[in-house]
Amino acid sequence: DNLQCTANDEGMTSLSPLLKQATPVVVDHAHGSWIHGTDGRDYLDFTTGIGVTSTGHCHPKVVEAARDQVGKVIHAQYTTVMHRPLLELTEKLGEVLPAGLDSVFYANSGSEAVEAAIRLARMATGRPNIIVFQGGFHGRTAAASSLTTAGTKFSAGWSPLMSGVHLAPFPYAYRYGWSVEQAVDFALTELDYLLATRTAPDDTAAMLIEPALGDGGYLPTPPAFLEGLRERADAHGIVLIVDEVQAGVGRTGRFWGHQWSSITPDILITAKGIASGFPISAIAASESLMGKGWPGSQGGTYGGNAVAAAAGVATLGVIEEENLVQNALIRGEQLQAGLQQLQEKFGPTERGGIGDVRGLGLMQGIEFSTSDGAPATEIATAVQQATTGHGLLSLTCGPRGNVVRLIPALVVSAEEIDLGLERFGAAVAQVLA
Ligand code: PMP
Repeated sequence: DNLQCTANDEGMTSLSPLLKQATPVVVDHAHGSWIHGTDGRDYLDFTTGIGVTSTGHCHPKVVEAARDQVGKVIHAQYTTVMHRPLLELTEKLGEVLPAGLDSVFYANSGSEAVEAAIRLARMATGRPNIIVFQGGFHGRTAAASSLTTAGTKFSAGWSPLMSGVHLAPFPYAYRYGWSVEQAVDFALTELDYLLATRTAPDDTAAMLIEPALGDGGYLPTPPAFLEGLRERADAHGIVLIVDEVQAGVGRTGRFWGHQWSSITPDILITAKGIASGFPISAIAASESLMGKGWPGSQGGTYGGNAVAAAAGVATLGVIEEENLVQNALIRGEQLQAGLQQLQEKFGPTERGGIGDVRGLGLMQGIEFSTSDGAPATEIATAVQQATTGHGLLSLTCGPRGNVVRLIPALVVSAEEIDLGLERFGAAVAQVLA
């Protein structure tokens, strides 16, 4: 097979080195939890396109819905003519959205939806500032990068970014050896301090948070922290935005990640898993909040594409029919229990080992650290790369790149989880040998 990803000596056009690839795999075809490479090998896919192929690769019902829609209308442009799949998707989303968030706006990517949410919050409040939390990842466009603190690689070299963004601590207990309560207490105290010293409540349009840090290290946001944010948002008229792009759509074992807490956000952002791989994203809010933006203030050529929307309707149907949120919860517990056993075997040493295993549902992070708690980035990178050799695809994350993340499809079976654990264990053993 002559297809090549990277530069070569033969003068052939190649993909830009701006793309950093986690594995050398070139996909030929993929089904369910499996990717079949052009190298003839089968890989168990615990990356799902970074949490996108929720119903597995090429679920027959998603394929059928998309095929059917391609023959009817591919692109109708939602500010010119409306189309049936988007109306159906809106109705279907209504069944799973939190009560009160009954107005939906569509875009293509997570970043665009994040921008839409921020824009709406600023328009609705007439206030300039946004508070974000350390380690958050919200996308790569200019505004979304400004809101992202999951690593300097996302913002370095192209400042100045959007102004009016203020950073508050995230309650990260493991790093400081704290209890979750101590971490939450610290982070809420610092948030109050920020509101008293840097961005006055009357200048603060929104607080933006992930229900579990994704690219920032696979750290579930403690429910008490979300509840503390809700209290402050209510007290000061600040819009609370929850970025469910990675943690939403069943991934954590609840339909929405924030549903591990008692809060309802003012704006919910979704993308990734919502259409099993077709690009579509959305924000949902109350009609009264949406009404504070004005018609025509947001939109886009491709937003709410008909084929993507049809795939979205099919995805939500499959999640419901196959009970995939429950599957994510049970298979997530199995995965976490297996990882904890590996942690007992390969715990931190001076060189490094598994320091922490955490996550919700099928969003599990394995943090590699030394016995002093320092990040063991080289080991995490080596493990991630070694998994490919053992037939398992994984990714790293975290500001220091020392967390391996496992993100299986919501359809993953018990046998596939066991196989994934076996392969992950073999990769860790190989690196630490
Ligand atoms: N928010 C979160 C929580 C994400 O995980 C991502 C993507 N990793 C984004 C926003 C940006 O989405 P996209 O890459 O589709 O622009």
